[in-house]
Amino acid sequence: MNALMTECIIGLGANLNEPAQQLTQALAQLTAHADIELRVCSRFYTSTPMGPHAQPDYVNAVAIIGTVLAPLELLDALQHIEASQGRERTLRWGPRTLDLDILFYGQQLNINSDRLTIPHPGVLEREFVIVPLAEIAPDFILPNQITAAQFAQEIDLKGLRPLANG
Ligand code: ATP
Ligand code: CA
Ligand code: CA
Repeated sequence: MNALMTECIIGLGANLNEPAQQLTQALAQLTAHADIELRVCSRFYTSTPMGPHAQPDYVNAVAIIGTVLAPLELLDALQHIEASQGRERTLRWGPRTLDLDILFYGQQLNINSDRLTIPHPGVLEREFVIVPLAEIAPDFILPNQITAAQFAQEIDLKGLRPLANG
């Protein structure tokens, strides 16, 4: 491993235009990126929308990457990938072809700026983050000081399930 790389946890989501393929394509883009190394990705899961309900179900996954990029540079890179896959910003939590969130950057970095909040503020409320994270990093200590594996047992799954062949 490159010593200058920081390990980060990324949340992937999509619910338009063949969402599983959107995630697969996003993972290929992360792999191809010169400054990002894709280490592991969870299975794909399907979840019901948490925003406006009249929209298709989501496909979600969580990935661990290594990167030499600073936090805002990483956000720029992820937003570039979102845009390249046709992401349009309309309704808050509205349907989208691809959403890439930085859940954690490094071991315990906290950021609160206009463009970036890390850890991502939704992490502990989102079963579609906790369950895939528990699959790839069961011993990861969450901001509530509980491991991902332990917390995954405690939360309401709200219909979350692994996608067939995901
Ligand atoms: P949520 O952030 O609740 O999951 P969302 O993903 O639908 O909602 P977006 O429209 O994708 O929200 O992003 C809105 C803005 O959130 C982005 O332009 C970005 O500046 C900001 N943002 C703040 N913290 C983060 C983070 N940790 N990862 C990604 N974007 C973030
Ligand atoms: Ca999001
Ligand atoms: Ca986002």
